[in-house]
Amino acid sequence: MAYDKNNIFAKILRGEIAAEKIFENEFALSIKDAFPAAPIHILVLPKGEFVNFHDFMENATPEFIAGFYKAVRQTVDAIGLNDEKGYRISMNTGKAAGQSVFHYHVHITSGFGNVGHV
Ligand code: AMP
Repeated sequence: MAYDKNNIFAKILRGEIAAEKIFENEFALSIKDAFPAAPIHILVLPKGEFVNFHDFMENATPEFIAGFYKAVRQTVDAIGLNDEKGYRISMNTGKAAGQSVFHYHVHITSGFGNVGHV
């Protein structure tokens, strides 16, 4: 699938659409999910044109990949989840997995309570 420069996260990264920023560095912008599926729901967007995890791992440089996943960790630290509270990181790749925005992103969710995992 070709990257669509007009997807909603590309517009957020260009500053054309507002988002609630949690963390930002040269590799990533982390924002609150506008339609949270958990009490805490953050999205980490790489600052590059990647459709999904597969595309990202194939086409991003090793430096960018390392910087991006460090930004995921820094986002966790920024929201204070790196303690007994805990968190889940997930990513949907393709329509069959529920991906709806085709700019690669990592979900950080937390606050589910004692519900086990899905
Ligand atoms: P996915 O379904 O894995 O592609 O995740 C896309 C996520 O983007 C969903 O959790 C949506 O709630 C979220 N989302 C859609 N539009 C916006 C927006 N304008 N700002 C922040 N999050 C959004």
